[in-house]
Amino acid sequence: MTSCRVRAPWVVPVAGPPIADGVVIVGTDGRIAAIGSAGQFGVEEGQSQNFPEAIILPGLVNAHTHLELTGFDELAPEDEFPAWIRRIRALKADRTPAEFLAAARLGVKQCFAGGITTVADTGDSGSVIQALAELGGSGMAYHEVFGPHPDQLKESMAALRDRAGELRAFAGSRVRLGVSPHAPYTVSGPLYSAVTRWSEDMGYPLAVHLAESWAEQQLVVSGDGPFAEAWAARGIPSIRKQALAPAPPRSPVDWLDRLGVLTPQTLCIHAVQVDRKDIACLRSRGVGVAHCPRSNRRHGHGSAPLAELLQSGLRVGVGTDSVASVAPLDLWAELRAAQSLAGQNAEETLRLGTLGAAAAIGLSEEIGSLEPGKWGDLIVIDGGDFPQGALLDRVLETKRQEVQATFVGGREVFRRPARVP
Ligand SMILES: [Zn+2]
Repeated sequence: MTSCRVRAPWVVPVAGPPIADGVVIVGTDGRIAAIGSAGQFGVEEGQSQNFPEAIILPGLVNAHTHLELTGFDELAPEDEFPAWIRRIRALKADRTPAEFLAAARLGVKQCFAGGITTVADTGDSGSVIQALAELGGSGMAYHEVFGPHPDQLKESMAALRDRAGELRAFAGSRVRLGVSPHAPYTVSGPLYSAVTRWSEDMGYPLAVHLAESWAEQQLVVSGDGPFAEAWAARGIPSIRKQALAPAPPRSPVDWLDRLGVLTPQTLCIHAVQVDRKDIACLRSRGVGVAHCPRSNRRHGHGSAPLAELLQSGLRVGVGTDSVASVAPLDLWAELRAAQSLAGQNAEETLRLGTLGAAAAIGLSEEIGSLEPGKWGDLIVIDGGDFPQGALLDRVLETKRQEVQATFVGGREVFRRPARVP
């Protein structure tokens, strides 16, 4: 039994070479039953959804989003990252649960329209896992936990347990719940350790914002800078005081490693302020990395050493971050930014938004390429004319508006309205 049969002049499976006049057949279980050339399957006209002048790809995997922030499009730049963080908090405090849910639904739909079929999302409203479940989406929803003062440990853990207990109801085969101890400037050492132990017991994967800003580096390493000043004003003991070892951590990566947070189940978001020792540490712990080049640039964090992260063998995917950092949400533009950073070819770059991102979030057995047995998550994009041998370069030039259709598990979730002639 077939759920969908899609045909186009080109199919790019990512896991193998492009297929001319290709067909992807998805079974009623939502998984890919077969992929190959139309001739191979004897597909006749009318037996498939035919997309002339188009290219079929695996749905894109966005390794980092905050879809609950949909609508906060690109806040005006602030002098300092900490001030921007404070503004986001103030805006969130004014949003009702119903508004968060509406924002999350819109965000998921915008992802579908832009060719994204899976998101690795962090947030604390709980709205994104609900929206993904309702709309038949796919993704990881990492529920954020905060508490920079060690005295907040019990309160933060109790809230996390309660909320995770509620949100679990939305989890299923396509939507998974995870936990995100937010960042070194919002989470105490004891809370990091407690969340990590509890998540391991419960089987929840982790996501952490790590080594993003210079202010975070200052807070962790030298105990000064804007985050450190804000902590001191609130009576929060410095990381130097919280550190278990006699010496202060040498970097944010070192800090989280000491606390046991870095494991193969951990997604490290940003990883900009990292040196060779940090990269070796991340690699030895087997973490995944979400790389957000345009967000990093927008906030003046600098650029992550993408080429070095990839050369080390780390699992790396590209993410958009939130629209409050860069709008509109556009993973195609993010991939092009990543390409110019690491100097990769089109094939390697496309992996960062498909199979590589799937691997970074632990889902490479399920999604990220078009292969029999994987979920039928695929997109159809405009093809048109391109020079011979330049198929993947054409793919990387894709604009958001060039996505014609998006399928999740073989179910159509987006179709571009027909153009009025
Ligand atoms: Zn983020």
